[in-house]
Formats: sequence, C-alpha cells, structure tokens
Amino acid sequence: MVAEGLTVEECSIKPEIMTKERFFNPRIETLPRNELDGLIDERVRYTVRYAAEHSPFYKKWFSLNNLDPGSIREHEDLLELPIVSGKTIREHQPPETPDFEFLSTGWEQIFTIHETSGTSGTPKSFFLTWDDWMRYADKYARIFVSQGFGPGDRVIVCSTYGMNIGANTMTLAARDSGITIIPTGKCNFPGRILHNYSPTGIVGSIFKLLHLARRMQNEGHDPRNSSIERLIVGGESFAEESRSYLSEIWGRPVYNTYGSTEGTMCGECTDLHGLHVPEDLVHLDLYDPQMEKFVSDGERGRAILTTLIPVGGRCGTLLLNYDTEDTTVVITRAPCSCGRTHMKILNPQRESETYWILGTPINKVDIEQAVFQRDNMEYLTGEYEAFIYGRDDEDEVVLRLSLESHDPDQMDTQLVRDRFLEAFLGSKPDLARSYGENLEILFNFTRPGDLELYRVLGRPKRFIDRRDYT
Ligand SMILES: [Zn+2]
Repeated sequence: MVAEGLTVEECSIKPEIMTKERFFNPRIETLPRNELDGLIDERVRYTVRYAAEHSPFYKKWFSLNNLDPGSIREHEDLLELPIVSGKTIREHQPPETPDFEFLSTGWEQIFTIHETSGTSGTPKSFFLTWDDWMRYADKYARIFVSQGFGPGDRVIVCSTYGMNIGANTMTLAARDSGITIIPTGKCNFPGRILHNYSPTGIVGSIFKLLHLARRMQNEGHDPRNSSIERLIVGGESFAEESRSYLSEIWGRPVYNTYGSTEGTMCGECTDLHGLHVPEDLVHLDLYDPQMEKFVSDGERGRAILTTLIPVGGRCGTLLLNYDTEDTTVVITRAPCSCGRTHMKILNPQRESETYWILGTPINKVDIEQAVFQRDNMEYLTGEYEAFIYGRDDEDEVVLRLSLESHDPDQMDTQLVRDRFLEAFLGSKPDLARSYGENLEILFNFTRPGDLELYRVLGRPKRFIDRRDYT
C-alpha cells in the first residue's frame, strides 16, 4: 500500500517489476561508443575539478605541481596525474597525517566508513556517501540483469557482510531489480535454506561453491537437481578449468564478477566472454610495467582505475589513477552480442600472486589450471597449495605442491602428476627445459582437511614464495 498523497518512489517501496529485462539501465548500457567516450570525458573533467576542490590530497598535489586542473580535458590526460596506491592512501591517513586526506566531502555527507586490509597490516580507510552507494548498487544491478537475473529470483549471498562492501552492494542492487536476497554471509548455511526458499542463484567463491556441492552430495542431494539456475563467483582470480569443473558439478552456468571497495564492479554477461566494465562510472586504464604509458587493447597491463562522478555529484573517497595491483587485458570495445556497448576485459590476475621462477613469471592461476585438469578431478577435491623453495643466489628452485585428495590411498598418483606437468609446463617452454635440471617439482597428496591453508585465518593464500632472499 502506498500512503495517500505520496508516490511509490517517495515511499521508497520496492517498485513492482514483473518481467525480466535485458538491461537494468538500457540507455547507458547501450550508449553508442562515441557518445560513451564523450560522457567519459565530460565526467573526467568534472571529477578532476571536484578532486582539486574537495580532496585535501589532490588540492595539495595540484598546487605543488603547479598544474591547472582545467588542463585535464580527456581521459588520456590522466597520464599527467600521479598514480595512487594503497600505500599512498595509508600515508595520507591517521596515524601518518592528522586527517584523512583522500576524504573528499564533508562528514555530514558520509553514510558509511569501510576498511580494506589488503596484504600489509594497516587497513585503508574508505568513505562512502549515499550517492556512492547508489552508483555501486547501479553497477551491480546491471551485472545481475546481464546474467539473466530478474524479478522472482532468489539469490543467496555467501560473501561476508562486514567492513568490505561486496555483499552489501549486491543486497542494495537487488532492491531495484526485483531480486530477493538471502543474506547468509557464508556458504555453510543449513539445508533448509535450499529446501524452503528454492533459491535460484548463489554468490560465492569457486571453492566455497565446490564445498557446498560436496556437502549436498554427501547429504544425498545432487546439486544438478537443485533449484539453483546460475552461480556467481567473484572476489579472486581463478583458472577457467576450475570454473568449468564447478559448472559441471552444478550443471549450471557460472558467471564471474570482479569488484572492490574502490568501486570496480565488472561482470560477465550471458555471452560469457569477458567482464563488462561500467565505463560511465569507472574509468579503467591499462599501463605498461614501467607505469609510463597505456598498453594497446589485447595486451596485458596493470589495471589503474579512476572513479567518475556524474556532473553535480559528490564522492566520499575520490581516487584518480588508483593502482588496483591487478593485471588484465581489454578484449574489446565493440558492442557485445548481449547488446551492451561497454568494453570487456579478461578476468584480472593479482600481481601479488605472481612469482618469478628461473626467469618465468608464474601466477597462482597457472598452478590452478594445472591442478584442475579434468582427469585429476576424479581423485582431487580441487583444494591445493604451492610453495617455492630455494635460494635466490642459487639457480635451483623447488616447487612443492600439496594437493588434497578424496582418498590418498585410492588414487592414481602417476596420472595426476603427468596431467599436472603436461598442463603446467606445456605453455612454458623455458621452464620445461629447466625441469629435471635446476627445477624440481614435488607432489604431496593430503587427506581432506590436511592442507596448511586450513590452519590460517582469513583468505587462503595458495601460492607462497618461501625462497631465502637474504
Ligand atoms: Zn555482454
């Protein structure tokens, strides 16, 4: 019921949406490329001016560098501005400075405060206005709709609700897309959640969703017969092999999302070929390793993002040229078969999960794709960890893999070794030449629950460099 004299919107009642739509924000999501580029440049100009006027950090930077904010006219001009990292944010907040120098509006405008810990100790503070929340929710609602979710869908959110923003953003995004959220915040929810509410989607990590499937199987339920229609994974990089295994176990499509507190929210559409970047709200540049220029589309580069504020809008923490410490590739800026015009990128990989072994860069994803070879999965649970040993000054390296198996006594260890080595060394000829000479690869098969990562709190670290650098 709508109170007399007030419209539905004024009452803030969930609007009645009956049918599934192709787009959440059709005009913006299908904006022709030239108009989209024009909108981006307009927002770059407004956002840079806003930064110079409202952010203590940028105010100081423009005056120290004697640069006129008005000279930043289009997105290529962002090369003139400094690259800001998590370290920069920490260096410009208490206890390092008396105030939060990236806070870019008055306290009365700040709706929520967040902290992101990252890998190194001190958390970064992050401030959101209600406008920021609405833009975050808009970005996520577009992703939901692009994956085929809509009115009548019931989605379990297994991501944790807390100082990060992912789970809350999805919950808010559901409001205007007719989706019902079941905010369990974890994947070990009781079975009745599945039976009583017949959910149609689950958001979680690859490994949480594999665990859930295994639990259901142990309780006598085949995940392929469940009410779930689609799975959404996110929060970490993964190998295509682990995604396709998850998809096979559930018998459902698995869609990827990539998000962060800083405001990237990119998602795969039903085309399942790359993640759309909401270009009107987030500007993404890919830099070369020297961080001096942009790389061309199709080349891997470091993902640097800039928040774009619509003209007249405000922002709690404004970041221009923020280093995500992830690398990715722009696949295309051409319209997608789903009808969206926003560019698509490859699933980003974390730089902090890449280590050099005898001159070859190895990312966690390289290990993971070799673990998840289909034949291996008859014996393995998919849980793994890998350690690099050796001395930096000696040219000998040991890669030690711990692979969790359903039953170490009943497995074809030779087959798993062979499949792993074929997949791992197959695409790395230099490393393949070193194998058996100065590269040794050791396999350790563990029982369920015996990996080291189970004994460490927080996000599991699966690829660890234990070389002696002294
Ligand atoms: Zn698409």
